[in-house]
Amino acid sequence: MYMTQAAVTRTCLTCEKPLKGRSDKKFCDDFCRNTFNNQLKAADNSYFREINNILRRNRRVLESLLPESEKIIRVSREQLLQKGFHFTYSTHQVQSAKGHRYLFCYDYGYLPVDEHWVQVVRRKESQV
Ligand SMILES: [Zn+2]
Repeated sequence: MYMTQAAVTRTCLTCEKPLKGRSDKKFCDDFCRNTFNNQLKAADNSYFREINNILRRNRRVLESLLPESEKIIRVSREQLLQKGFHFTYSTHQVQSAKGHRYLFCYDYGYLPVDEHWVQVVRRKESQV
């Protein structure tokens, strides 16, 4: 038995012209295939760039609040938000011996203390 797919009109993923030939074909030609792949890549890159910028800004904000001479400082969430901090984004988590979970943006991290306050810390030498 051979199922006919005549009812389904397949179209090129790039230019949306109807496709002829093999049923696994997705593009009319190499040009359309390359165009499609390049667009995908560009979209990926801009997404990565956006996230990376947010993470770098987060790090900069934390760094700007923690003086060189201090290991830990308490700041308000409001202060972080005003400086453009995004609480949604972090690079990794570090659990302290006491079980506190610090959220890091590269080498700077913070611990939510309560709904108003966070503690800002710098990465210890021994931490990854
Ligand atoms: Zn096409």
